[in-house]
Amino acid sequence: MNTGLKIVLSGPSGSGKGTIVRELIKDEQFLLSISATTRAPRQGEEEGVHYFFKTREEFEGMIEKSELLEYAQFCGNYYGTPKDFIEDSVKNGKDVILEIEVEGAMQIKKIYPEAIFIFVVPPSLTELENRLVGRATEKPDVIEARLARAKEELALYHHYDYVVVNDRLVEALDEIKCIVRSEKLKSSHYKEKIENVIYN
Ligand code: 5GP
Repeated sequence: MNTGLKIVLSGPSGSGKGTIVRELIKDEQFLLSISATTRAPRQGEEEGVHYFFKTREEFEGMIEKSELLEYAQFCGNYYGTPKDFIEDSVKNGKDVILEIEVEGAMQIKKIYPEAIFIFVVPPSLTELENRLVGRATEKPDVIEARLARAKEELALYHHYDYVVVNDRLVEALDEIKCIVRSEKLKSSHYKEKIENVIYN
């Protein structure tokens, strides 16, 4: 069995990466790394399913105890990736998705240079604003902050291996599955398997 892939998915708030991830994990080949955050749960969000919801004190305790692989602040809240889950999952052949913002993604790049970095963008900034306002999960000042952050994040697209424009969900999903399929055909993905055959 080959080890699974580590897939980092970033993109501005409202790019639709959350929807993409929800669709991807319907296939049991994919597992989502559940993050810890100090953000308050949105309506319908569940502890341990969408996030591990923490107080600032709890989160800072996790930082001190080195329980996080990476963490960053996003629009006033902490977000971070718990250790262990990723390693355990890829060893079991699963493809693990980290849905994280750019600062955290750059930390992951240093730890796992072999990970695949995919940047999801909306078709336009106007569309991004429409989506953020339309989903009505944030107050106007938070939407403003997220739009400002979106522009900063867009400027960092070149750190990613792939860009997927999320105009139509089915097409974006198809493109991501295509990326995953071709990554699995790379010779580097066969290194361990082939070396086992040769040397054992
Ligand atoms: P939201 O509040 O919309 O759920 O997430 C805000 C941003 O935080 C999104 O860009 C999301 O990808 C990012 N995020 C979620 N979990 C993590 C994490 O564990 N680490 C980092 N660095 N960013 C995260």
